[in-house]
Amino acid sequence: MKIGVLSRRSSLYSTRRLVEAATDRGHEVRVVDYLRCYMDIMSRRPNVMLSGESLVDFDAVIPRIGASYSFYGTAVVRQFEMAGVYALNESQAINRSRDKLRALQLLSRRGVGLPVTGFAHSTKDIQGVIDLVGGPPLVVKLLEGTQGIGVVLCETHKAAESVIEAFRGLDANILVQEFISEARGEDIRAFVVGDRVVASMKRTAAAGEFRSNLHRGGSASPVKLTPEERATAVVAAKTMGLKVAGVDLLRSNRGTLVMEVNSSPGLEGIEAATGVDVAGAVIAYVERNPERKRSKVRSRA
Ligand code: ADP
Ligand code: MG
Repeated sequence: MKIGVLSRRSSLYSTRRLVEAATDRGHEVRVVDYLRCYMDIMSRRPNVMLSGESLVDFDAVIPRIGASYSFYGTAVVRQFEMAGVYALNESQAINRSRDKLRALQLLSRRGVGLPVTGFAHSTKDIQGVIDLVGGPPLVVKLLEGTQGIGVVLCETHKAAESVIEAFRGLDANILVQEFISEARGEDIRAFVVGDRVVASMKRTAAAGEFRSNLHRGGSASPVKLTPEERATAVVAAKTMGLKVAGVDLLRSNRGTLVMEVNSSPGLEGIEAATGVDVAGAVIAYVERNPERKRSKVRSRA
């Protein structure tokens, strides 16, 4: 197969591993900087170009869209879809998961267990939202934050009020969430490919920190999931429409809750912690995926 990895840099660990795995499995693979792609939107034959060359002869593209480039990145993915190229994660699915509020609304409708979460526009309604999630301690999250940036723990009522007021004063969209203290700074990353969890790790926050993100100094170790946890992770990924997803889970007193679903989960931490060839699992999925051979005339955007 001819596979394109849509990524800013070929030196990134995840990108390198995907290229390696695809090459090992006999595919022709190329890294494409999606910010350098430009598009012919108007013609009857939608096209994606890079330095004068058309890229729509790929059999499949694997999007690795950075959080700061969601808008342009998903437009490029959408254009590949329009040209009939199979996108491992579709643009729509990436957009669903990037917006934390939209993602939680969809998961909640599907009956997936979530931390109690509130959302409001006006600072006049701060009190209502704080009450809704059961009062402090609570977590305030920027809607489009990632790597733990924009996630704040408010231990007192006063702190919650001022943090919410400050974010809203900057016109930032936030959600307010019940703090799952019994998770004690630990969460679980389940790496889903298709309808299977291929690897899972437990992440533990650094001392004095409640965010377990590896980018925030968290450490990782392998963990065994219960059958229910595996099922929950797969349902969460499916609800977003993601074929590849990093589903983050919190073990709470009322069972395992989904915290978020990532559309470009990193491979470095999870491969190092578990020894699983996650990149190989992703490429194997692209190979056997039946959807790949669908009609060229389609667009769900
Ligand atoms: P990001 O997209 O920035 O990773 P998350 O929602 O995943 O944002 O939050 C970052 C980290 O903060 C999580 O991995 C978890 O350790 C901690 N965290 C987030 N929400 C909660 C919560 N409601 N209760 C307890 N810990 C939380
Ligand atoms: Mg996270």
